[in-house]
Amino acid sequence: MTQRIQVVENILNANDRLAEENFARIEAAGVFSINIIASPGAGKTSLIEKTLPLLKDKLRVAAIDGDIATSIDADRAAAAGAGASIQINTGGDCHLDAVMLRGALEQLDLTQFDLLIVENVGNLVCPANFKLGTHKTVLVASVPEGDDKPYKYPGTYRGVDALVVNKIDLLPYVDFRMDYFTQGVQVLNPNVTTFPISCRTGEGLDAWVSWLIDRARK
Ligand code: MG
Ligand code: ZN
Repeated sequence: MTQRIQVVENILNANDRLAEENFARIEAAGVFSINIIASPGAGKTSLIEKTLPLLKDKLRVAAIDGDIATSIDADRAAAAGAGASIQINTGGDCHLDAVMLRGALEQLDLTQFDLLIVENVGNLVCPANFKLGTHKTVLVASVPEGDDKPYKYPGTYRGVDALVVNKIDLLPYVDFRMDYFTQGVQVLNPNVTTFPISCRTGEGLDAWVSWLIDRARK
């Protein structure tokens, strides 16, 4: 048992070292970078799709999409206007790690971009444990998932820098208590920047896009 814990710690330590190398590479190129995590179907790719047209002529964006299989999400990012779009297929792994991101970064001329968006594999658990080396981690929650998610996934909610609450257009139809959800978030992560958004209607996207632009232009 003890030995198994040691192995897991070694893997995470090795990953953290590589994440630091990734960060140094991204930082040297002058790019602002985010790692988007969420459960499957929360709307990570939809958020990217809605965000890219609003950044047109403002920021040059590269997208890296992690999925267990297919290049559907990278194709969607490219169609929405990403200047470069790379798919990482994890071949079964339920999260991206720093090695995978390094492989994708090697295919990019980072100096050509202002913003790097990494879309992690849809999973609320382990992506939080594997640092990639991006500047910020963004969690996309969504109304149909339920208002209890901060209570059930405290480790994930605790570690993120920004929180997008997507599908707010569904609030009238779903038993989602925003005050209960917000209370849970506050306890775990009192300083997190929160963006209530509907990718379907476009509500709330402006504040999110301004946040990205402000950071990418620094
Ligand atoms: Mg996706
Ligand atoms: Zn995993």
